[in-house]
Amino acid sequence: DPFSSVTPVSVQPEKNRREGKAIISSRLNKFLQKRYLSLPQGDFCQATYVWIAYCGVDLCSKTRTMDFEPKTIADIPEWDISGQIEPFTTEMLLIPVCMFRDPFLLDPNKLVLCEVLKHTREPAESNHRNSCNKIMEKVKELHPWFGMEQEYTLLGVDGHPFGWPRLGFPKPQGPYNCSVGADRAFGRDIAECHYKACLYAGIKISGTNAEAMPSQWEFQVGPCEGIEMGDHLWMARFLLHRVCEDFGVVATLDPKPMTGDWNGAGCHINVSTVQMRAERGIEHIEKAIEKLRKRHAEHIRVYDPNAGEDNKRRLPSIHDFSAGVANRRVSIRIPYRVAQNKCGYFEDRRPAANCDPYVVTFAMACTCMLEEEE
Ligand code: ADP
Ligand code: MN
Ligand code: MN
Ligand code: MN
Ligand code: MN
Repeated sequence: DPFSSVTPVSVQPEKNRREGKAIISSRLNKFLQKRYLSLPQGDFCQATYVWIAYCGVDLCSKTRTMDFEPKTIADIPEWDISGQIEPFTTEMLLIPVCMFRDPFLLDPNKLVLCEVLKHTREPAESNHRNSCNKIMEKVKELHPWFGMEQEYTLLGVDGHPFGWPRLGFPKPQGPYNCSVGADRAFGRDIAECHYKACLYAGIKISGTNAEAMPSQWEFQVGPCEGIEMGDHLWMARFLLHRVCEDFGVVATLDPKPMTGDWNGAGCHINVSTVQMRAERGIEHIEKAIEKLRKRHAEHIRVYDPNAGEDNKRRLPSIHDFSAGVANRRVSIRIPYRVAQNKCGYFEDRRPAANCDPYVVTFAMACTCMLEEEE
């Protein structure tokens, strides 16, 4: 099994998230907050370390003072946390891997994405960046580019979709995708503030749009090369949860937050190599699709954190693989423009919204790029 090293830990973090009750931060006096946040901080710098929780879906953070402004990731020291599973006694290590500007505490303060290692320095169960990085190193001559489309759903802290009537439902789906208007676009402030926060931070965010279900939104990150895809998407998710905290709402990445005739939430991945982007690249795209067809079941198993169980709720069938040009009802889509130009990229529409981008890009490189390199 080529994916055994990235098989996710199976838990139900979304359950916890949806039972959350704290709305406190958003109710505090933001006028006062601004006064304190704008106090001069001397030569000191606040570094907020961000890491993926044991469940592989949630994010954690904690902040420390540095007595100079770090210029590169090498300037940030390792740190530690208490173990991520009960009895929380063994220490784990935080290894800084990627640094961003902090859009909340502002310059010169930093956000630092970390890998989690056990005290033996082996990767923690939740750490799929480690193996992802190794495979990206192996295929780097192909210059793999990825772009991911992160869909999410806004909930009130009571777990009810944001802005939906207390009893009953909004009007059926149809007018909401890319919509404008108070009766259609629910919670635009979140999407817009998150977008600006990402740009400030230095995340390669490439767009946003309202989705098919009211209170559902999407943002896109990419194109990113290699390991950068996971790094930037994970930090973009952190910013999303953090922005939502300020507004007193919750962003869930659950792939099917509302049962019935309501859209699920995915995280489409767009993929290309240097060969696919070059003239007659379509031949390389078609080869990649044939490889993906043969490994459909294995991919489904790692495209959500519950071994396919989450996608079972979202996809019409997790057993069927299909591919097509300009068709959005398929596993793999070749965009119309790509078919016209005979080069470009393809889109895998199967990953669920709560997938681990390190796992998905790992699987993509493993299936589509590895043999070509050897
Ligand atoms: P869709 O039409 O599926 O909704 P989007 O516009 O939401 O597409 O997202 C397209 C994604 O494809 C973006 O994240 C973008 O960065 C990415 N992308 C564009 N060109 C390439 C490429 N050559 N290789 C990989 N990803 C790409
Ligand atoms: Mn303590
Ligand atoms: Mn999209
Ligand atoms: Mn979408
Ligand atoms: Mn898409």
